[in-house]
Amino acid sequence: MDDIRRQRTLVILKPDSIQRALVGEIIRRFERVGLKLTALKMVVADADMVEQHYLAEPTWREQVGKKILENKGGESDGKTAEELGDAVLQQLKRFMTAGPIIVMILEGAGAVPLVRKLVGSTEPLSSDVGTIRGDFVLDSYQLADGSGRAIRNAIHASGTPEEAEREIAIWFTSDEIVSYQTVYEHILYDVNFDNDLD
Ligand code: GDP
Ligand code: MG
Repeated sequence: MDDIRRQRTLVILKPDSIQRALVGEIIRRFERVGLKLTALKMVVADADMVEQHYLAEPTWREQVGKKILENKGGESDGKTAEELGDAVLQQLKRFMTAGPIIVMILEGAGAVPLVRKLVGSTEPLSSDVGTIRGDFVLDSYQLADGSGRAIRNAIHASGTPEEAEREIAIWFTSDEIVSYQTVYEHILYDVNFDNDLD
């Protein structure tokens, strides 16, 4: 998928979004920026799916563990980055299977970084105002780690185009993904937009 205008990203509305009736509000933000939905479904995931999803990025466990070591250093009881990352994975398996989730593919120019910008950083407490996590969630590392649970941050979004393609293959078959044009793509991308007068 080399055409930047057709970049794809995978978004999951986590169980807390559904419970808090944020589905419409969140999708509205993606639609209004110009992204196109090419697949969408509600799923009750099992722990296996959740594990496959997070381990689609082979270094994910280590990366999360390293972040925890950097943030908490001394409090990690001599555990390795892998072990700390694995503990978060176990917490995510509980969280992501707690209720239905909504999985979707969004397509458009720079969809991966654009969606991450709209979603905000991992910890809602420090996510920027105006982002989905910053505007709708109050959770923090302190609160979540203190209770031994995954951060409840409403939404997942792929971190890189490669991660997106691997995640899409986990959640969707090719016949569930629709290729179509919208009328507004002319305004967003067509070089002949300067030629619309009669
Ligand atoms: P994301 O890409 O912003 O979702 O963040 P990551 O890929 O690093 O982590 C995946 C998910 O694991 C996050 O969205 C959180 O739900 C959870 N998580 C990540 N880091 C931590 C942590 O240090 N503590 C807890 N409790 N949860 C975490
Ligand atoms: Mg991630």
